[in-house]
Amino acid sequence: MPLIVQKYGGTSVGTIERIQAVADKVIETKKQGNQVIVVVSAMSGETNRLVGLADHLSKAPVPRELDVLLSTGEQVTIALLSIALTEKGYPAISYTGGQVHIRTDNQHNKARIIDIEKARVVRDIEEGKIVVIAGFQGIDEDGNITTLGRGGSDTTAVAMAAALDADECRIYTDVDGVYTADPRIVEGARRMDSITYEEMLEMASLGSKVLQIRSVEFARKYNVNLRVLSSFEHGPGTLITDEDETMEQALISGIAHNRDEAKLTIVGVPDKPGIASQILGPIANANIEVDMIVQNVGLDNTTDFTFTVNRNDYEKALSILKKTADKIGAKDVSGDNKIVKISVVGVGMRSHAGIASTMFKALADEGINIQMISTSEIKVSVVVAEKYLELGVRILHSAFGLEENGNVEEAG
Ligand code: ADP
Ligand code: ASP
Ligand code: MG
Repeated sequence: MPLIVQKYGGTSVGTIERIQAVADKVIETKKQGNQVIVVVSAMSGETNRLVGLADHLSKAPVPRELDVLLSTGEQVTIALLSIALTEKGYPAISYTGGQVHIRTDNQHNKARIIDIEKARVVRDIEEGKIVVIAGFQGIDEDGNITTLGRGGSDTTAVAMAAALDADECRIYTDVDGVYTADPRIVEGARRMDSITYEEMLEMASLGSKVLQIRSVEFARKYNVNLRVLSSFEHGPGTLITDEDETMEQALISGIAHNRDEAKLTIVGVPDKPGIASQILGPIANANIEVDMIVQNVGLDNTTDFTFTVNRNDYEKALSILKKTADKIGAKDVSGDNKIVKISVVGVGMRSHAGIASTMFKALADEGINIQMISTSEIKVSVVVAEKYLELGVRILHSAFGLEENGNVEEAG
């Protein structure tokens, strides 16, 4: 019998009525002759509410306790869905991450899955039960509850599918697939029938949070058939897959954006070997990830150094950088946490020149100032002021002919 893993996100289980509707969808899949494992998120807004409660008590809540708190959101929805399924005549059993031994490392708030003990789940599905598993959570070696980072239920689902060698992993959400840009920003964005793991990984890591990055990494590594679909309407969704012929002509697959960005600059740094590591070492030691880096050398033999970090780490990074500035005799430190990153992504970019210039011209024509640039073989990213986010994404989407009837080949 085919085994299907289905994952329902926060909006999809946001009310009792929606949980009922999810139960019906699960039952429909079961009736079609499949074994079903369901992974659910917390009700929409619940994880944010819990974070807010902790923030009232502490500027930096103890990560272990935050995980104990945040994991409760998913415990509510697994129980409710199992109750609904059983009531409708389909026996279901719910499990927290710890109960099915989703074993992770001990990096609280951003733990990584190490392995999953599948025996218990296998036994249940063989008995004909529907298994409902809490997304986003696991347990470390010492039995502490861990969470997998925001959006982590996607990763739970893909990891379950990989561990149990499922036939398909379906991510049900509030949009009906992966689009050429966030459909909430670009009205004319186009749903893709399929996208490669590589491109999805790039889109996700550049801010398209329709899938958590780790879930795409897992899917690629274990060759999981992964599909993004709507919880609310029928449709084929988007298949995330190995490279296929239809993708080959696509120069640009999409526009991604990320609001979680902040920029820091240290100016007038004496220009000598080792300076970059003196500046970034303390940042790395504080467990802050640095994304883009730009260094300019001035005529006076000093250098200016700018880098970006996650917006959540902004205050912490700024205070570390001020200390470093005193130590190394830099002239000044400044920062800006009202910036965003917009990226043009496409595997096809490798064989085509001119993407960057099309991008820069389109932004310039709208008077949008580019603050930083970074490129790789399959993307070009720019940092711009936050107020230009929507406009920037829209004009790039149209500059590359990505809208519904656009011609991808003509762009660039
Ligand atoms: P869930 O709660 O179901 O996990 P998420 O909010 O995590 O849902 O992910 C779905 C959201 O991802 C959509 O509502 C959409 O705004 C956003 N999104 C961003 N980029 C894209 C994209 N390229 N295609 C589809 N959705 C996108
Ligand atoms: N509930 C968690 C979050 O809001 C996990 C998830 O929804 O995937 O981030
Ligand atoms: Mg999500």
